[in-house]
Amino acid sequence: MAREKVITTVPADEVKQHDAALRPKLLKEVIGQRNVAERLEIAVRASKKLNEPLGHILFDGPPGLGKTTFATVLPNELGTSIQLTSGPALSKPADLLPFLTNLDEGSVLFIDEIHRMPRVVEEFIYPAMEDFRIDIVLGEGMSARTISMNLKRFTLIGATTRSGMLSGPMRDRFKMHEHLEFYSVEELATIVRVNAAKLNTPITEAAAHELARRSRGTPRVANSRLHWTRNYAAALHDGTITEPIARAALDKAEVDRDGLDKNDRKYLETLIDLYGGGPTGVEALAATINLASDTLSDEIEPYLLREQYITRSPRGRVAMPRAYTALGKLPPRQKPDDKQGGTLFE
Ligand code: ADP
Repeated sequence: MAREKVITTVPADEVKQHDAALRPKLLKEVIGQRNVAERLEIAVRASKKLNEPLGHILFDGPPGLGKTTFATVLPNELGTSIQLTSGPALSKPADLLPFLTNLDEGSVLFIDEIHRMPRVVEEFIYPAMEDFRIDIVLGEGMSARTISMNLKRFTLIGATTRSGMLSGPMRDRFKMHEHLEFYSVEELATIVRVNAAKLNTPITEAAAHELARRSRGTPRVANSRLHWTRNYAAALHDGTITEPIARAALDKAEVDRDGLDKNDRKYLETLIDLYGGGPTGVEALAATINLASDTLSDEIEPYLLREQYITRSPRGRVAMPRAYTALGKLPPRQKPDDKQGGTLFE
């Protein structure tokens, strides 16, 4: 067999390890999501030309697809600063005050998991988003009075895995809504190659493709599988990631040939073996697998749905033929009167 050509040997002096170092710094370094990147490019250009802050932006999509990446790239493009917080950390309006009073003109305030921000905080932030001011209540009862405080003009960037859980008024206050989609294998292979170079790890084209194919369409997963494979190659071989090494490393990590991990398989096994392929509610599945139902619906299901391992019916989740094949089982027959099979795919 011909030797695989090693394509990534670029030294990367200043590159540190792990996610932060691998995160793109500028829009042109962001791989994939071209339409989103192009729209943001236009918004950034307009903001600079018109000397106005960028309009508020909401990113939604499953975890690890680049919401934080886009949010951190934008202030770099604008030459401004960013403050980062998250919905669960903001339990009352006072928690938001230090961020709002620390704003630089035109800077970015990023709120991750914005759908988990309580309603009182949401209402507190509305005037800040609309008119760059906040209303603060001083004192209590009869002597309470409200003072209005002006803020620097800023951009709120919200990220959510559940845009459906955001209230209508909150959603309407964002000027741009960008939905991030899963990545193609080619895009992920590019991310793997670029990041292997940043980590100073030689990798073959075929190995990059193997990692990409087994990364659930998600850059964060690709990065963590690259890290594992890099360690595997360094510990057991000479450090170069070839296709057989990538394959062996992922097998060792219990990532199957389709890229499904232990939790994905546990989900499908439970749905098929315990619930006869469904329909089953997500709460029942979560309780049986012993994972939070949010983890199921935010992290596990989006990819299984998109790849048609499962489908959602009004009565719950249903396993599709591909789920049976992935677990090495025979899919039920399609005929409704077939005793051995089910009536799932009538
Ligand atoms: P999210 O905020 O949606 O959970 P992140 O922005 O934190 O996802 O992305 C996780 C990691 O994946 C980032 O640190 C970055 O290294 C990588 N990543 C995400 N999107 C891209 C992209 N479009 N191009 C290159 N790397 C990306």
